[in-house]
Amino acid sequence: MTDTLYDVAIAGGGPAGYTAAIRGAQYGLKVALIDKSARLGGTCLHVGCIPTKALLFNAEIWGHVQHAAAFGIEGLGAPTLNWAAVLSRKDAIVNKHVKGLDFLMKKHKITVLQGSGRLTGPAQAGIHTVEVAAASGLMQLQARHVILATGSEAKLLPGLQPGPRILTNIEILSLPQPPASLIVIGAGAVGLEFSSIFRSFGAEVSLLEFLPRIAPVEDEDISKELTRLFKKRGIDVSTGARVEQVEETETGVRVRFTDAYGKPQVKEAEKVLVAVGRAGRTADLGLEKTRIQLDRGLIPVNEAQETAEPGVFAIGDIVSGLPQLAHVGMMSGMVAAAQIAGRPFRPVRRDRIPGCTYTEPQIGSVGLTEAQAREKGYTVKVGKFPFAGNSKATIVGCHDGFVKIVSDAQYGEILGVHILGPQATELIAEAVAVLELEGTVEEMMCTIHAHPTLAESMLDAYAAVHAMAINA
Ligand code: NAD
Repeated sequence: MTDTLYDVAIAGGGPAGYTAAIRGAQYGLKVALIDKSARLGGTCLHVGCIPTKALLFNAEIWGHVQHAAAFGIEGLGAPTLNWAAVLSRKDAIVNKHVKGLDFLMKKHKITVLQGSGRLTGPAQAGIHTVEVAAASGLMQLQARHVILATGSEAKLLPGLQPGPRILTNIEILSLPQPPASLIVIGAGAVGLEFSSIFRSFGAEVSLLEFLPRIAPVEDEDISKELTRLFKKRGIDVSTGARVEQVEETETGVRVRFTDAYGKPQVKEAEKVLVAVGRAGRTADLGLEKTRIQLDRGLIPVNEAQETAEPGVFAIGDIVSGLPQLAHVGMMSGMVAAAQIAGRPFRPVRRDRIPGCTYTEPQIGSVGLTEAQAREKGYTVKVGKFPFAGNSKATIVGCHDGFVKIVSDAQYGEILGVHILGPQATELIAEAVAVLELEGTVEEMMCTIHAHPTLAESMLDAYAAVHAMAINA
């Protein structure tokens, strides 16, 4: 048992946990952050958002280099890909940010402990005892509040084990070479992003999705157009595909599935990526000694991120009812820290969460899809503007995609914004602010957008709600 009484002990040092720790320290709380790894950052920094987007940037540059002549750049010869250099740049980016986190922990005087944290039961006289299994043995620490932020890991299909040919988000980030062919199971963010990246690096990619459309959480228009663009890039897309068997062959993998028409199909490739969702790491947290009841493996919380066990909070990917996104984890960490410190907060609202998928082209979306708005009973008015009418899109050489505005016909409130196109993951920030501030189409039609920018396509899309886009 340590002598220190912490205001909050946080189990898990990913984006949710480290954000809660820093915000808690900023509020003057005494914070302990416990992580199994000596390197903070969790899935996002080590095997998720950051390394994936690093690879994606290489893929983008590789694409530009191959079309260099179109930009008047000649004499490059035949470009070749130094994969080891690609991976080492990615690793250097990760390492830089691991050091950055260590610096932030010191700056905020956060006690960092390496080990696995678990609850020992309800608080006694308002004080929780957290057991930490460290390499040096078991220790206990005491805290007035506990935040569980242990994250998630890739689900696999029954009977499969990850390895050199059967990949999850972890193995695929350290392949010795880009595969010549890749089957991707699941067309959520993970499946879409790796399909896009490895197609750019020249792999033959087959994407299998169980549901009737890829990017199934997005507006239907996005799924439809992304399918067309993926097929144009040579990605073989099968929807309504029920995977029956994944097996290793002498040289690679074989996937048997039933297609949308009920016909058995077989595909073979060098590797297979299984991207069928993520399971919360809730085992071995000592939850059975608390009032917490799991909901399909995840932890229910209230608006302040507090669980059914008083004084115990949960944030990030282990929470039920919110999407498993780093930025959701970060904001829910700030909410929990505010509640613990007795400061005001705004609960995380599901319809104000941006979704960003880093495909080529990108998806950025927030709020209700057209179908969801209609289901909720709104009289919906939609505006759609294609990037083909945007001059900056011409300059950057990407005319694919559109901006779609979903609004309420009665008051003009903007209910949802759905972007497929260049820099969509950056452009969506404006839309998130507009929804947060309950902006209307009319207000945004009067908001000056700089010229020439990709963001101008937003202005045209708001105007398109009233069939008044200037550039279409
Ligand atoms: P997901 O749940 O988003 O998508 C999984 C997809 O696999 C679904 O479309 C599902 O219908 C399909 N599927 C499930 N079982 C299948 C089967 N047997 N055969 C074929 N298809 C099947 O999961 P994910 O893509 O693994 O991502 C996990 C989490 O991480 C998600 O919450 C995701 O949003 C998040 N993530 C986000 C980003 C980003 O924001 N850019 C990037 C990566 C991951």
